Amino acid sequence: MSWDKRGRENELVTWKDVMEVERYVYTAGPDGEKFLRGLREGKILGRKCPRCGRVYVPPRMYCEDCFVENGEYVEVKEAYLDSFTTIYYDNADRRLDQPITVGLVRFKGASGGLLAIVQGIPEIGKKVEIVEYGIPLRVRT
Ligand SMILES: [Zn+2]
Repeated sequence: MSWDKRGRENELVTWKDVMEVERYVYTAGPDGEKFLRGLREGKILGRKCPRCGRVYVPPRMYCEDCFVENGEYVEVKEAYLDSFTTIYYDNADRRLDQPITVGLVRFKGASGGLLAIVQGIPEIGKKVEIVEYGIPLRVRT
């Protein structure tokens, strides 16, 4: 299908079609694979910039401050709750039997964070214990 865009730069263009995912193989990439293998071993891995020392969680290939390739993978351990929300209704507007608290967990000394299901009474800044290493994490306050 050809498309002539001349004179239509400000129009919203959408395509409705089917994406054939079965014919392709997707990978998590080198950092994603390392991170996922770490989860399987019960570790949260970040990647450290060799220039400024910033640690990215989840790992990233390049430091966004220094524009250099990040170096070693490091395990981060001290997790705390950065923010959270409690969900009382599902997508169909039915009240849940038990509300679910979802939070952003960050790690001391690292940039970034991971999504988590939060058990216990959530409190911003409070240390959390990781009880299940997965996507999302499951943490306890
Ligand atoms: Zn850096």
